[in-house]
Amino acid sequence: MEKTLVLLKPSCVQRQLIGEILNRFERRGLRIAGLKMMQLDDAILREHYSHLADKPFFPTLAASMQVSPVVALALEGIDAVQVVRTMTGATNGRAAAPGTIRGDYSVSNQQNIVHASDSPENAAIELKRFFRPEEIFEYTSGAREYIYGADEC
Ligand code: UDP
Ligand code: MG
Repeated sequence: MEKTLVLLKPSCVQRQLIGEILNRFERRGLRIAGLKMMQLDDAILREHYSHLADKPFFPTLAASMQVSPVVALALEGIDAVQVVRTMTGATNGRAAAPGTIRGDYSVSNQQNIVHASDSPENAAIELKRFFRPEEIFEYTSGAREYIYGADEC
């Protein structure tokens, strides 16, 4: 089954929304395969946001990601990347649809609560960036047969 990386950003941690956002993913039916708190350094942020290194907002973005630890999540489900991106909403919280995480908890283009991988290819790369293999757990969710139909997985 597909896995994706989510980071609960300092905007989430500082506003004491960790439990609330984590609850959304659990409630949806995604399995938590990995979960840890991390203080991000310059090197991992340069790598993680390498596609944005030339943008004028990169310095403030990198600083905003180091204000406190983040919570890294490895979430699993059928089409987990797309399911989680849809839950996340548009990058700019002011444009994000109500009902999405960003649309419900943010009004900023930068302090937008969560990071979520944008493709299965990037999810695989990003999961390796934030988790060692032994930090990803392959237990079976007890609720699995009530989360998916018998012919879905
Ligand atoms: N970001 C920003 N200003 C912008 C665009 C993006 O500060 O004009 C930040 C924002 O926190 C965003 C992150 O850079 O989540 C990564 O940008 P990306 O385009 O990958 O958006 P995402 O995939 O997070 O929706
Ligand atoms: Mg992105």
